[in-house]
Amino acid sequence: MKIGFIGLGVMGRPMAQHLIEAGHELYLYRVKPVSAHLVESGATACASAAEVARLSEVIILMLPDTPDVEHVLFGKDGVVPGIKPGKLIIDMSSISPLATKDFAARVEACGCDYLDAPVSGGEVGAKAASLTIMAGGRPDFFERAKPLFEKMGKNITLIGGVGDGQIAKVANQIVVALNIQAVSEALSFARKAGADPATVRKALMGGFAASRVLEVHGERMINETFEPGFRLRLHHKDLSLAMDSARLLELMLPNTAMVQQLMNSALAKGLGDKDHSALIEVL
Ligand code: NAD
Repeated sequence: MKIGFIGLGVMGRPMAQHLIEAGHELYLYRVKPVSAHLVESGATACASAAEVARLSEVIILMLPDTPDVEHVLFGKDGVVPGIKPGKLIIDMSSISPLATKDFAARVEACGCDYLDAPVSGGEVGAKAASLTIMAGGRPDFFERAKPLFEKMGKNITLIGGVGDGQIAKVANQIVVALNIQAVSEALSFARKAGADPATVRKALMGGFAASRVLEVHGERMINETFEPGFRLRLHHKDLSLAMDSARLLELMLPNTAMVQQLMNSALAKGLGDKDHSALIEVL
């Protein structure tokens, strides 16, 4: 299949690599020195998102935030202006569920298919092709995309209609953020109270407190290695999506609001481009 891939960051690079290894023809934007190995593996570097769209049947986006997706889809030299009908656009970025519905309507008005399909599992999951993929959109669009999802992920679910994948992802990010804060407090407590936090983490991994966050991020916190991973500023963006929706829904999310405030403080301390496990530094 001819596949366009736009957004070759921490996640996009390994995801695109799996599609190349599966024998697909990939068209990429933007190729930087850090993603040049994908071209050496046989992919084609394009000069714009519009060129990617012209050359591909399926166009995958893996961009930071809602305005980036809007710009790449509808901006100058973007995917949608001038697109031929029949193409499938899959947005795997984590962005606003509401904006997603609007983007899908505008894409479908051009005779193309749209799916939202954000992921969980981090850089580790992207490299291991074991991502959790949460899709939203028409079942026939999902079936069209499924063979590609199977090259990048393991736990693949059609949650519901367009935007529902993004809703599931926001829910995921609430759980992960509150878990990071819980692990930060537990390990800070253990250290300050005089126990070895590494031994405490190991002991807790066998009990009811076990989690992927305790396992992976707990280790990062103990070793104070905060290379991303998942940039703290991107997780802050996800909690902002949660709080924006909560305001519209008149829904109270008190602990999400509190962790968002702690993330504000982390950004103010200059931790935005560190891994989100660096939230412990606020304590
Ligand atoms: P990243 O910042 O490492 O990568 C984003 C890439 O998009 C960069 O290479 C950037 O150059 C590119 N980009 C930005 N604007 C562009 C444009 N106009 N045209 C072409 N390319 C453009 O981010 P990431 O960690 O790969 O995350 C991507 C998305 O996946 C985000 O929405 C994030 O929230 C989500 N996500 C990340 C993780 C993780 O652990 N890193 C896990 C799950 C979901």
